[in-house]
Amino acid sequence: MAIQRTLSIIKPDAVAKNVIGDIIRRFEENGLSVIATRMTHLSAEQAGRFYAVHKERPFYKDLCKFMSSGPILAMTLEGSNAVNLNRQLMGATNPKEAEEGTIRADHANSIDANAVHGSDSEENAGIEISFFFGDLDLNSRL
Ligand code: ADP
Ligand code: MG
Repeated sequence: MAIQRTLSIIKPDAVAKNVIGDIIRRFEENGLSVIATRMTHLSAEQAGRFYAVHKERPFYKDLCKFMSSGPILAMTLEGSNAVNLNRQLMGATNPKEAEEGTIRADHANSIDANAVHGSDSEENAGIEISFFFGDLDLNSRL
C-alpha cells in the first residue's frame, strides 16, 4: 500500500472534551505518524474557506460557526494508506451510524459536533494540508 499524507482536524468539541491524546493514540497505534501539528482558533471566514466545497449545502453556515467556536488541532498524518485508514478510524459522519470502536462512535455527540475531520481523497489531502502547513512544517517520519 502506498505511503500517503492526510489532514486530520480534532474539532472544537473534542478539544473541549480533552480527548486529544486519546485520538492521537488511535492514529499511532494504527501505524500513522504525526508529521505536523497546529492548534488554532479559526475565524468563521477561515472555516468558510476551508469548507468551501460545502458552501451550497444547507448545513454550511452552522458548520462554519461550529468550526470557529473554539480551538482546533490540525495535524498532518503520514503512513501506508493514510487517507482511507484515517477515514476508517474516524467512522461515519453521523455518529449514530459510526462503527463501534471508531473515534466518532466514542467521542462524537451529533452530526455537527462529530469530533474529527479527515481528508476524503489524496488530492483533497494535498489541498487541505497546504491550508494549514507549509513545506517546512512537514517532518517526514519515514
Ligand atoms: P465528513 O466530515 O465525514 O467528511 P462531510 O464532508 O460530508 O463529512 O461533511 C463535512 C462536515 O459537515 C461533517 O463532518 C459534519 O460536521 C457536517 N455535516 C455533514 N452533513 C451534515 C448534515 N446533514 N447536517 C449537519 N452537519 C453536517
Ligand atoms: Mg468531508
